Amino acid sequence: MNVLIVGGGGREHALARAFAESPEVDTVYAAPGNAGMKQTAVCVDVNEEDAGSLTAFAAEHDIGLTVVGPEAPLLKGIVNAFKEAGLTVFGPTKEAAAIEGSKSFAKAFMERHRIPTGTYKVTSDYDEAIRHVDNEGVPIVIKADGLAAGKGVTVAFTKEEADAALRDILLDDKFGEAGASVVLEEYLEGEELSLMAFVHGTTVVPMVGAQDHKRAFDGDQGPNTGGMGAYSPVPQFDGSDVERAVRDVLQPAADGLAEEGRSFTGILYAGLMMTGEGPKVVEFNARFGDPEAQVVLPRLESDLAAVITELLDGGRPSLSWSGDAVLGVVAASKGYPGPYDKGVPIADVPDSDLLFFAGAGEENGTYVTAGGRVLLLAEKAATLQEAQTAVYEKLKGLDTTNLFYRTDIGRNVIKY
Ligand code: AMP
Repeated sequence: MNVLIVGGGGREHALARAFAESPEVDTVYAAPGNAGMKQTAVCVDVNEEDAGSLTAFAAEHDIGLTVVGPEAPLLKGIVNAFKEAGLTVFGPTKEAAAIEGSKSFAKAFMERHRIPTGTYKVTSDYDEAIRHVDNEGVPIVIKADGLAAGKGVTVAFTKEEADAALRDILLDDKFGEAGASVVLEEYLEGEELSLMAFVHGTTVVPMVGAQDHKRAFDGDQGPNTGGMGAYSPVPQFDGSDVERAVRDVLQPAADGLAEEGRSFTGILYAGLMMTGEGPKVVEFNARFGDPEAQVVLPRLESDLAAVITELLDGGRPSLSWSGDAVLGVVAASKGYPGPYDKGVPIADVPDSDLLFFAGAGEENGTYVTAGGRVLLLAEKAATLQEAQTAVYEKLKGLDTTNLFYRTDIGRNVIKY
């Protein structure tokens, strides 16, 4: 079988690596892929949102399975297009992906299905938003309603911070259409857990948990990013915590979407805050997390292609996981998540079996930066501590003239 992966980030590189290991898979294609993953997949120069060209490519190249990595094409209906063309695809329709695409939809959906989450208010009116902040007090969380690549969220600890975020979104249109309205959300306290599951209709097969680090700088300081590093397992939580999260969050979400005529197929990701009252949803995503995929997939011992095929055939695959720990650190362009230079050489990249490229291009035979998050280097070891030590030892070799990385990924679990 030939597999097509839609997308070109580190998550897609990790997917390509997992599919390339499958004895059932002949050729792995990635559209568009990136310069750093060419050894793992055949990169196809087609934009990830160009559903017409991608369905044509899949038909022409005898693609038996297409997996969509990023959220943007999902929300535009790429899965709907593949299905209409009679092609096998693993991902949610745009109707099901709304659970990620609209935070106000997700909140109302959770209310309808009694899925635990923080209290909230949706508004597009700046004055009303300010009154709500005055009534509720701080801390409070302010989110652009639509997709903002993980950067539309402000956890405001002062009224001034709340005001600045509301001005950015509602008055200055910093997020365009995605910021036409805001969700003002109760601040939840606890540790975070990213829990992803393979879902087909009401069948939910959970993966092992992961934790990512969203803030740009050490000590969880600085602005939110797409994610600066991650690790798995998350030993702060045990099997019963995960079981509870599946029972209270993932299963009712899959059931609720099916009930509402938006049956979900693909990866359902629950970003959870593990509070004193149990898990509460911070966000749902309709696809693998990036960088969570890069630390979870290397622990999957089952054949990814076989797992997805069995699931799509109506079965319930059982997953086998390595007991080892994986910890990964993102190297990003200096300036990210703000403005940064592109086309800068990426030099002295350490060698690793778990090196995943993202914003990487190629000029005259050398890698150059092409995005904010450039690569993720992970290591697998018996313990998180050992994996962390190994990653940072290797990263010492990376040329950081134009790149930066956090030096404390895993800080919540590894005591210094
Ligand atoms: P999101 O993009 O919704 O996952 O938000 C990005 C990050 O903001 C999360 O990973 C949390 O660290 C933080 N966050 C979002 N919502 C809340 C909340 N209600 N309470 C506390 N922290 C939050």
